[in-house]
Amino acid sequence: MGEFIHEQRQTPVAGRYDVIVVGGGPAGVGAALAAGRMGKKTLLVEQYGFLGGMWTAGLVIPVWDWENKGGIMQELVDGINAQGKNSSAGPLYTFDIEAMKLLLDRKMRSCGVDLLFHTVFADAVLEGDTIRGILVENKSGRQAYLAQVVIDCTGDGDVAARAGAPYWIGRDSDGATQPMSLMFKLGNMDYVQNMDHFPSEDGCTELFYYMRHAAKQAGLTDYAFNFERPYILRLPTPHQGIAEMTHVRGKSGLDAWELSAAEQEGRELVAEAMAFFTSYMPQFRDAFLEQTAPQIGVRETRRIRGEYVLTIEDLLKGAQFDDGICTCAFNVDIHQPDGQSQEGMDIPIRPYQIPYRCLVPLQVEGLLVAGRCISGTYEAHASYRVTGDCVAMGQAAGTAAALALEQGLTPRALDGKRVAAAMEQQGARLK
Ligand SMILES: Cc1cc2nc3c(=O)[nH]c(=O)nc-3n(C[C@H](O)[C@H](O)[C@H](O)COP(=O)(O)OP(=O)(O)OC[C@H]3O[C@@H](n4cnc5c(N)ncnc54)[C@H](O)[C@@H]3O)c2cc1C
Repeated sequence: MGEFIHEQRQTPVAGRYDVIVVGGGPAGVGAALAAGRMGKKTLLVEQYGFLGGMWTAGLVIPVWDWENKGGIMQELVDGINAQGKNSSAGPLYTFDIEAMKLLLDRKMRSCGVDLLFHTVFADAVLEGDTIRGILVENKSGRQAYLAQVVIDCTGDGDVAARAGAPYWIGRDSDGATQPMSLMFKLGNMDYVQNMDHFPSEDGCTELFYYMRHAAKQAGLTDYAFNFERPYILRLPTPHQGIAEMTHVRGKSGLDAWELSAAEQEGRELVAEAMAFFTSYMPQFRDAFLEQTAPQIGVRETRRIRGEYVLTIEDLLKGAQFDDGICTCAFNVDIHQPDGQSQEGMDIPIRPYQIPYRCLVPLQVEGLLVAGRCISGTYEAHASYRVTGDCVAMGQAAGTAAALALEQGLTPRALDGKRVAAAMEQQGARLK
């Protein structure tokens, strides 16, 4: 039996909103913009001092699966392009991180969304099985913010879990999750990875091909590579790029001690990678480490169980739904929990839709989820977790929250077809 402290406190109500969005990543941005633009008094709560989630806090710059979305996703791409802050176009789209932060701030201000930074979600305010608001902690202390609809865009499903919604974690066989990765930025480098070019027979990336070659040349026959499909993508700024190659395995993104250990292990792996690059690879001889990401990238934690569970069968048949709110076309991309490579990439999926029902958690009223924590299986999640899809899910959740309020319905009772129709009117492409 653990030791406990019994707390008794009165918490001030600091604000009342129509809609509260928790988490300002790709999903939260879509949700808050959609709700704000539909005239709803909207609060966006974010633990960092900037928006973007993994885009900005994780240095995850490739926006996958954005081209078929229209709506808010297209608008963000247009906003970056208008400033000339993109480094490539087409399916592999990358952007300048500071430009993204500023663009997102401005978008929120333009539709009157209240941004509350440096604020951590602490608990759900419940009345029976209905969520009435959130408790937060920040420099001002502990406060309550109340709302008619709360949208969980924390990536981890923190709000839904605290409110009592059921969820799964990891793969069915043992609950293992995909590894985390600490992304890092290199300066003064002279290398652009060709993402389509896999010169080796075993399908490794171009960067890994050169790394393996360099190790051989240096006589490092037993060098233990951490991950066999690393990449470095160019930023729009000269001679700078971002690397994805450090995989931290076997740690939970829901445990603060394990996250603390993962951050430290990630930094050790980055140091090792930089030493390898500068010592053995001419392309990186004068390169230096500019920055590690503000936080280690967590690929997978909770998947909140909703009114519909998206499965690999749906992906294989290219499922379409009456309440389909976006189309996803990204591969199943499973970074092996206990191996050095990726799997699932060769599963022949077809473009499939996410139904609105995946955003509606079981057992809690007044709550929606969007982003990587929606309702789907381990394999399906490995496809729809990419950022282009998360923005579209967010737009659907924000739209649904506003429609539910206008029609005096709970999000569960709302007809998902109406969400889809409203999104199309907003310029989103659903098919
Ligand atoms: C290493 C790595 C590489 C990836 N590579 C790609 C890629 O190349 N292309 C791609 O498109 N996708 C990629 N992904 C997937 C993608 O980045 C995520 O699945 C996606 O960002 C999820 O979006 P989200 O909005 O659900 O969550 P997030 O992006 O994680 O955003 C969640 C937000 O909520 C905030 N938050 C969380 N908890 C709380 C709390 N309790 N209180 C207050 N705020 C909170 C966080 O600070 C964050 O801003 C990658 C992921 C990782 C980890």
